[in-house]
Amino acid sequence: KVDQTSLIHGRVLSVHGWQSKVLSDDGRLYACATRQVLKSLATDQRGVVVAGDRVWFRSQSREGASIRAAERADETVVADGMIERIEPRHGIICRTSRGKQHVIAANVDAMLIIASAAEPGIKPALIDRMLLTAEQYRIEPVVVINKIDLVDALSLQAMIGVYASIGYRVLPTSASSGQNLSYLRAFLQDRQTALAGQSGVGKSSLLNAIQPGLGLAVSHVSSENQKGRHTTTASKLIPLAGGGAVFDTPGIRQFQLWDIEATEVAGLMPDLRPYVSLCRYPDCLHLHEDDCAVKNAVADGRIDARRYDSYCHLLEDDLLPQ
Ligand code: GDP
Ligand code: ZN
Repeated sequence: KVDQTSLIHGRVLSVHGWQSKVLSDDGRLYACATRQVLKSLATDQRGVVVAGDRVWFRSQSREGASIRAAERADETVVADGMIERIEPRHGIICRTSRGKQHVIAANVDAMLIIASAAEPGIKPALIDRMLLTAEQYRIEPVVVINKIDLVDALSLQAMIGVYASIGYRVLPTSASSGQNLSYLRAFLQDRQTALAGQSGVGKSSLLNAIQPGLGLAVSHVSSENQKGRHTTTASKLIPLAGGGAVFDTPGIRQFQLWDIEATEVAGLMPDLRPYVSLCRYPDCLHLHEDDCAVKNAVADGRIDARRYDSYCHLLEDDLLPQ
């Protein structure tokens, strides 16, 4: 039986093998192991604790005790610890490798879906796909359109209007001119936020503008031996000075949809969803069926045609047999 009184509450910043870095609520960093009994409960041995987990742990270091050699170099670690309890998770993000799913981030409160207005330009189909991921994970999405300084804001109004009418938040930003960065900073303040978006849209620049020195890790793959090498894909939680934290998930710029059935997709799109239950065919894919409620809504403009186009592409390119 665990003596609750001496337990410290904190959150897991990163995991290295069996060891994790845990930041206590009062701002100290601990190098923690995990109690054996928790490991045996975990179905996925790799993911006993993951970045973002809320844990209760016991400080183990006595005066001059054994902070591991690798951690001793890291002067910010104050003590060893032992994780005794992991709080139930909400908002997890998974990654599939070798056919198995692994949780890579826990307690994800929000997902910033970052696109750029130019260089590279906006790909609405990609935004829609990332929105679908957020919906599937049940994580609140915010669409950030960065590099707004490079275009005439009016040119984006129609697209922003479509997302806004669905109920999604859209935030135009510029890491260069600073536009809406104070809003973004405030949004990040009391949440654990994941970032998604193609490379080059300005994720690192936005974070750097919010908190100088805070770059995202890039997964480096040397060009000579790309095949043999493993890029690092361990995720990290990076605490922000103003409160809140962001997940860095190197190598994973768009989160993957997990096992999803083609028939489930429309239900994950808030603008299509109302028509799904009106459709006369219970297993309708809303693609080629006659007198389909979804297709009728597209035909008379109640569903945006471009959004429906994204839906069709997702099904035809990814989920249905070619
Ligand atoms: P990441 O790959 O998503 O992390 O993108 P980076 O932050 O590395 O940015 C890619 C390039 O876009 C860099 O050359 C940045 O200087 C540039 N960039 C980022 N944000 C902006 C912006 O708001 N406006 C402009 N004009 N350029 C930007
Ligand atoms: Zn239908």
